[in-house]
Amino acid sequence: MADVQLYDTKTAAIIPFEPGSEVSIYVCGITPYDSTHLGHANTYLAYDLLIRRLEDQGHTVRLVRNITDVDDSILPKARELGIDFLELAARETARFTNDMRVLNTRPPFGEPRATEWIAPMVELISRLDTLGHTYADDGTVFFDVSTFDGFGSLSGYDQQTMTEYAAERGGNPDDPRLRNPLDFILWQPSLDDEPSWPSPWGPGRPGWHIECSAMSMGLLGSTIDLHGGGSDLIFPHHECEQAQSEAATGQTFARHWMHCGMVAYEGTKMSKSLGNLVFVNELSKQADPRAIRVALMTHHYRSDWEWHDHDLTAGVSLLDRLHRAAHGSAGPNPGPFAERLRAALDNDLDAPGALTELSALADAILAGGEDPTAPAVLRQLGSLVGLELDAEPRALA
Ligand SMILES: [Zn+2]
Repeated sequence: MADVQLYDTKTAAIIPFEPGSEVSIYVCGITPYDSTHLGHANTYLAYDLLIRRLEDQGHTVRLVRNITDVDDSILPKARELGIDFLELAARETARFTNDMRVLNTRPPFGEPRATEWIAPMVELISRLDTLGHTYADDGTVFFDVSTFDGFGSLSGYDQQTMTEYAAERGGNPDDPRLRNPLDFILWQPSLDDEPSWPSPWGPGRPGWHIECSAMSMGLLGSTIDLHGGGSDLIFPHHECEQAQSEAATGQTFARHWMHCGMVAYEGTKMSKSLGNLVFVNELSKQADPRAIRVALMTHHYRSDWEWHDHDLTAGVSLLDRLHRAAHGSAGPNPGPFAERLRAALDNDLDAPGALTELSALADAILAGGEDPTAPAVLRQLGSLVGLELDAEPRALA
């Protein structure tokens, strides 16, 4: 069986993804303080498509997607709303689970919540401490990047770029306690109204990066086949995860790194502060959720792209055509379409290419033909990419 070819962030090349029969995948999940927007959907659908193709090839896939229910963004939001952070987390996690179900993504094998993994995090930090990779300052423990040779090897960014991104994405390179501006927090004291857990360095809470290392290694072992998330996680989050995990175990943390592009809205970066987030639950009130999936599939997972309101209309119309053809009576020999669709998925998960083949087969069925198996194959190929074509599409609201 041919391997799936996938772009690997670390080697910056498209290479064969060569897992064994069991595949372990860790994808960074949400911080549950707001609803699922299109950026999340775009990311998680890409891994869902990969998983479906791997299962189609006969692999068993174990996907772990965590819930970051304690970090620097959920605590201020809970404070602002005047509710307990775990209540906020439970509410938004339930919404996220529902959105993922509505979009027909495969449920994960494991969905660990950071607050349930504090003890393994403390253990991991202690191990790093014993091995000489940390320093502490008044209850805060830092990872000392100078003790790890490969820092920067995942992102390939230079020191200046890393410093800029660290400042932008949750780090604090100007902290005077840092020996190197890229050193990052493993453990920190909590503020008075924040949750805290006991540790050898005093009560506090974990840093964001150590959470994923502890949960990934705890559920899937020291080395995983593939690690993923949005491209904004390459640095610092994944670079730091790799450094601390490999410093602790001496083994490769992830064999393959796959990152998804960012989604903008009508020409502007989608962000909470601009108030222009497009939410999955809003879109699925307007249109059949399969049309959202179709619309997302018209973009390659690695590209940055913009959502336009008319994308949903286009998705609805293609879904409608696919559904009509799936209930047609005959068409052309579907074999070559199936072969090209799988080849598209194997070519760095080319979802637009796969969608083109589905659409071409549907057109050919609607034009007529002799082969009575064509509509059933169209339905199978739809399932392969997560589009179940049995039910009647819902009209646009
Ligand atoms: Zn993570």
